[in-house]
Amino acid sequence: MTELKLSESRDLTRIERIGAHSHIRGLGLDSSLEPRDVSEGMVGQAQARKAAGVILQMIKDGKIAGRAILLAGQPGTGKTAIAMGMAKSLGLETPFSMLSGSEIFSLEMSKTEALMQAFRKSIGVRIKEETEIIEGEVVEIQIDRPAVSGAASKTGKLTLKTTDMETVYDLGTKMIEALGKEKVQSGDVIAIDKASGKITKLGRSFSRSRDYDAMGPQTKFVQCPDGELQKRKEVVHSVTLHEIDVINSRTQGFLALFTGDTGEIRAEVREQIDMKVAEWREEGKAEIVPGVLFIDEVHMLDIECFSFLNRALENEMAPILVVATNRGITSIRGTNYKSPHGIPIDLLDRLLIITTQPYSEDEIRKILDIRCQEEDVEMSEDAKQLLTKIGHETSLRYAIHLITASALNCQKRKGMVVEVQDITRVYSLFLDVRRSTQYLMEYQKEYMF
Ligand code: ATP
Repeated sequence: MTELKLSESRDLTRIERIGAHSHIRGLGLDSSLEPRDVSEGMVGQAQARKAAGVILQMIKDGKIAGRAILLAGQPGTGKTAIAMGMAKSLGLETPFSMLSGSEIFSLEMSKTEALMQAFRKSIGVRIKEETEIIEGEVVEIQIDRPAVSGAASKTGKLTLKTTDMETVYDLGTKMIEALGKEKVQSGDVIAIDKASGKITKLGRSFSRSRDYDAMGPQTKFVQCPDGELQKRKEVVHSVTLHEIDVINSRTQGFLALFTGDTGEIRAEVREQIDMKVAEWREEGKAEIVPGVLFIDEVHMLDIECFSFLNRALENEMAPILVVATNRGITSIRGTNYKSPHGIPIDLLDRLLIITTQPYSEDEIRKILDIRCQEEDVEMSEDAKQLLTKIGHETSLRYAIHLITASALNCQKRKGMVVEVQDITRVYSLFLDVRRSTQYLMEYQKEYMF
């Protein structure tokens, strides 16, 4: 029960973290990597977006493996948004995973195991497989036990004529499925993938009665789309190293992939998998696709985690590591030393640093416009102006939060458009950080120590 709750709450945090950036669809750059003013949900932050774009290009050209990027800037200046933008631009094929520095201390596994899993979730493996394809014309379909009132028979026989031989291919239930869904009939020209049993209909042969027998077996494939008989096909599966780990871990099993409770995975399992993958790569059966691992609040990691990261980046399969922090010079967790962003100097030295700048009022307004659209909230011009002012004086994140809250307030009073009154109401109900701090200073004596 507790385990279920833990994984549920972790999922919720993830949804909440991603939800806030649902409007980001890329970095909004043109083909020469120049940032467009407002594009793909992105506004302003031109320098940082451009720098992120250059890094993306290096990733695509395979020139940056094993390096890391630090996004540094004040809270709410779009560091996570830029990391999301990078991930979206890389496309679905490139694995992307994100985690927060503080999160790894609350997981039910060791810190370094959590980091190791995050690394391996960000390394893709494209496995190539050759399967045999049989193409031929359906000559005969035989079902042993015909379907009775909708219940499909469990056995079946499909007789095919192929160019080089006449073959009887017993597909059993697969055939029944094909008969039901794709309606294979006598005279159809079909292709069967032997590995998966998938049947693809390529077309119809000439009418059996007139042409079939007269033309003889060599001419049976005139209607195949490619003209030629293609016997082998390459199939590509994309998985992550972490998925291979979990599936092969005797204690976990593949079901753990759905629940997310993968627990710790033994080092021997990983060693064996790395060896196997290396073998496949040598034989040309697999390719590594380094993805992106984003660690937010990186200053929350401690010295052990940092040395893990340093080592992990040395691995030739390492993904691109993007870390973010809003801290200046601060202590490295687990030590008495201070350093820029709370990151040890040896790791800092490996990082390409991108800084983000505070937004102008105009940029805040544009981001709020996009968020209103994203959340389907209609807001009057006056209300938007007020919210922009609030965003400028407090924080962008706070102003974005007020959109949802003010829309609820508007709904409650049965209004259609969020007005100034809704904004002022929620502004007085929910404190921003500055007012909350002020309040604490005034009433500190009344709180427990
Ligand atoms: P923190 O340091 O507190 O983690 P952050 O720098 O990661 O903050 P974000 O969470 O990226 O800031 O930004 C706050 C909100 O503003 C998010 O909803 C984000 O999507 C949005 N946002 C930030 N910058 C931009 C931008 N340039 N264009 C569009 N939306 C943005």
